[in-house]
Amino acid sequence: MDQLRFYSTLSKKIEAFKPIKDKKVNLFVCGPTVYDFAHIGNAKTYTQFDFMVRYLRFRGYEVFYLQNITDIDDKIIKRAAERGVGWKKLAGEFEQKYLEDMQALHNTAVNQYARATDYIPQITKQVKVLLGKGYAYKTSDGIYFDIGKFPDYGKLSGRTEGSRDDAVSRIDESRDKKNKNDFALWKFSKPGEPVWETELGAGRPGWHIEDTAITESFFGPQYDVHGGAVDLIFPHHEAEIAQMEAASGLSPLVRYWIHVAFLNINAEKMSKSKGNFLTAREATEKYGYRLLRYFFISQHYRTTLDFSEQNLAQAKGALTRLDEFVLDLDTRYEDNKNQEDTKKLKVEIVAKLDNDWDTPGAIASIFNFIRQQHTRGKSGKNVYRLFQELNQMFDFLDFGVPKIADGVQKLVDSREQLRKEKKFTEADDLRKKIAEMGYEIKDTAEGVKVNKI
Ligand code: AMP
Repeated sequence: MDQLRFYSTLSKKIEAFKPIKDKKVNLFVCGPTVYDFAHIGNAKTYTQFDFMVRYLRFRGYEVFYLQNITDIDDKIIKRAAERGVGWKKLAGEFEQKYLEDMQALHNTAVNQYARATDYIPQITKQVKVLLGKGYAYKTSDGIYFDIGKFPDYGKLSGRTEGSRDDAVSRIDESRDKKNKNDFALWKFSKPGEPVWETELGAGRPGWHIEDTAITESFFGPQYDVHGGAVDLIFPHHEAEIAQMEAASGLSPLVRYWIHVAFLNINAEKMSKSKGNFLTAREATEKYGYRLLRYFFISQHYRTTLDFSEQNLAQAKGALTRLDEFVLDLDTRYEDNKNQEDTKKLKVEIVAKLDNDWDTPGAIASIFNFIRQQHTRGKSGKNVYRLFQELNQMFDFLDFGVPKIADGVQKLVDSREQLRKEKKFTEADDLRKKIAEMGYEIKDTAEGVKVNKI
């Protein structure tokens, strides 16, 4: 099989993927700031990374997928104060809700979640190194990174300045900073704010430092893949590079940077003030995880996704066609005639996904295959096995509720009638006949249940 290639924001090119060590992949994706429910934009980002990691595993890579949880941040402190609850309680509750939402979406690929506040000693150590090497300096309100000392600042995003359009700026204002765009590593706490007594002084971490402290703890100063949505490229990921490369003297921090595009609603930016805001939880309840996964995965990760009823209806139509095909598969039928075609389909899908995760292309291949199968009579075991294998990464197919062939349903009904007439021997004969056709019958308190064997 060929080589996986994908786009890296750092080189701005599609590159062949070669992990630092053999087939081991250390991969980090920025996790949520837990001050509110995850929204569907977050859900899209995390579902697309879940898919990518599952694909890497499908391709035989041994992936360690790490995600942080930002459980201390200005937004958390502000929201906790508004609600009159402690910041820790608020963060704890929304972390729990986030994890539930990810489970509901079947985003299960993460190996380890790491909470920022569990890494204060590592954060302290990193800031001390930066102070010691002259990359960081103290002001009256915190410790800042001096971007003037790091010539590579801007190599990821192509800029060193924030702009008004940035979705998340978080470049902290401070009167006595050396450069306007220097960012906080450590913030001396104001009264009433959470505080950690460390060698840096009583305070709390800046936003960017938690990620490099966490990744250094798990992966060391260099690792394979870092992901997030495009809004995080500047300043967040730029800052991570500066912090870790300055502290370690090693470059690059990360070999491949993957950024997924944003989700809009009805072609508009999603925002609470516009009233077009939908949480991941509401969406999963309304549409079901399979449709959402199909919708998110079937779009290319670098294309902005428009969440609209019309686009969802289209996705639903496609998913229904997939469901009908899958549920019609005869799992007892040795469809040797399909051996070659299923092999070919798998190779085609891998070729598409190896090409910068071309999910629309891979899904188009599946539909072409289904069209071809429809012209060839029934499909059986080979196809079923391949679709189960593919679903290890897609996880939007449904194998659960088999459609019972008409003929079988008639026999089930006749057996019921015979049982009512107490003709048990004949009823048992029918049960055997039904079993030969690949279905098992269970008589339960709620009535007869029929399942594919
Ligand atoms: P946050 O909790 O705000 O830090 O966001 C968590 C993740 O969701 C980050 O990777 C963001 O870049 C991403 N994200 C935020 N808004 C959107 C959106 N509208 N579409 C896609 N991803 C988003």
